[in-house]
Amino acid sequence: MDENKKQICLTSVKATVLELFGIEKSQGDDVANPYIIEKNGGKIIDRAVIYNPDAVALWLYEKYRDKFIPAGQVSEFALPLKSVMPSVTPVCFASMYSGVMPEIHGIKKYEKPILTCETLFDRMIAAGKKCAICSTAGDSISKIFLNRNMDYFIYPTVWQVNAKAKKLIRQDKYDLIVIYNGNYDSTMHHNGPEAKKSLKVLDKNIAVYKKIAGYIKKYYADKRVFYGFCPDHGCHEIDGKAGSHGLDCYEDMNIIHFYSIKEAKKNG
Ligand SMILES: [Zn+2]
Repeated sequence: MDENKKQICLTSVKATVLELFGIEKSQGDDVANPYIIEKNGGKIIDRAVIYNPDAVALWLYEKYRDKFIPAGQVSEFALPLKSVMPSVTPVCFASMYSGVMPEIHGIKKYEKPILTCETLFDRMIAAGKKCAICSTAGDSISKIFLNRNMDYFIYPTVWQVNAKAKKLIRQDKYDLIVIYNGNYDSTMHHNGPEAKKSLKVLDKNIAVYKKIAGYIKKYYADKRVFYGFCPDHGCHEIDGKAGSHGLDCYEDMNIIHFYSIKEAKKNG
């Protein structure tokens, strides 16, 4: 790896999506992911679907590479990204969707106030795009982006969230759909990141992403679509049988993102 190359931060997600939609060309601090922008070749996407599994660390990808094969099969890029400090869920997702560091968006610890700064959703809405969030009740993504002119589908279980997300893709009423699954995070906190139970949930998250990609291919056949597998922070083992995150360490700060741009299928 080129050591002079600055590692891409998860704050790049907002600028990347805005540039792909042709809403704003990234500049200054708002830096889009150069690999995705180059791959897209200046075209305009019609839809974006972002799957946010919680706490999928880069080291999990490095150590259990085979588990990620299904994600790789439906993606063009597997990229290591840097998270932000403190590496806890509301701080990281606030940075991912506001495109700025915690000291600017204001969530600097584990708390879930409604963000008042500009987010990807605000820019999309201002550009006339329709946005939806599918998430589980009480979780960061279900709370910090509220009070916007968009639709929130909040359910008690991950299963219901994913069923709704698939339905939304089938119905094709939204330009941007964000889907949150916190089940790996909660399982690894209680059992440790590498417990059998936790790794099984990680498998599930990867399978859900692959399934979503299949839905995109099928129901957005004639659309150009950007989609990704985009966790917020990593995780590390503590006390042998539990997991944690929030520190400025390799395990917590380095995450793996998968991205793809699906071409629009031409008719005739
Ligand atoms: Zn998290």
